[in-house]
Amino acid sequence: MKMTNEPSNTTPSDEKITDETPITEAPEDVTDVGNEDKPTEETTDTPVDDSKEPAKTDENPSPTTPSQPNTEQPSSPPVQPETPVEQPTTPSTGANSGYSDTVTYPAKPTYVNGILVANKKYPLPKTYAPGESKIAREAFEEMAAAARLQSLELVAFSTYRSYDRQETLYTQYVAKDGQAAADRYSARPGFSEHQTGLAFDIGEKNMEKHWASSSFGETAAGKWVAANAHNYGFIMRYPSGKEQITGYMHESWHFRYVGKDIATAIYTNKQTLEEYLHLQ
Ligand SMILES: [Zn+2]
Repeated sequence: MKMTNEPSNTTPSDEKITDETPITEAPEDVTDVGNEDKPTEETTDTPVDDSKEPAKTDENPSPTTPSQPNTEQPSSPPVQPETPVEQPTTPSTGANSGYSDTVTYPAKPTYVNGILVANKKYPLPKTYAPGESKIAREAFEEMAAAARLQSLELVAFSTYRSYDRQETLYTQYVAKDGQAAADRYSARPGFSEHQTGLAFDIGEKNMEKHWASSSFGETAAGKWVAANAHNYGFIMRYPSGKEQITGYMHESWHFRYVGKDIATAIYTNKQTLEEYLHLQ
């Protein structure tokens, strides 16, 4: 694979995903997204997957790590990944948060084989602000229409989040739970996939109690999305049992648009984006 800072013209799939607006989702600050219903920030204490700044690694050294070192709890549904309070999945201490000690924001976003990457190892430029991807939005609407035929009303309660928004969220989480805990469920600013505009936090309309909660995966809607999202170009970005690879607890509601071909390949092989792109 080749890693470049620019979108390669060799898009793997026929769909052009990456070059456009990558979308990342943000569970919490629904508000930015401007979607229909979204949980107010206050209501959701759910940690967003991306949050703040990497630079402060030394702030909350591990000592504060919660007693729950479950980095890999595949079976037991990790309690809401995005909600920090509930369960810190990975006992990442400041040092083991998955981030490198020194963070250098790139001048351009990282594309691997034409796919935009945003994770704890590959941050985005602070100025990268593509907004919500139109292609991903169209794909979501197509998926929602299909779900509607099954009497399931899907909503994307958080999609694009700016660097500044993520910084605000992450800061709040750190203040509330400490950096070690916050790093498990929230991305530091610049590291959130929501900043790409390609990440969609999906839930069911009028079922806010399951938004950004592991319980979504146990609902009919959550199961439907998990089984069908790839047909519309989305992958469940943080699967259960892959915490060590993705750096985040399982999130049954966080989906990333990568295009149908790639999504289907990843789904079929039970991989993560990192594994698909050989980033690990
Ligand atoms: Zn998300």
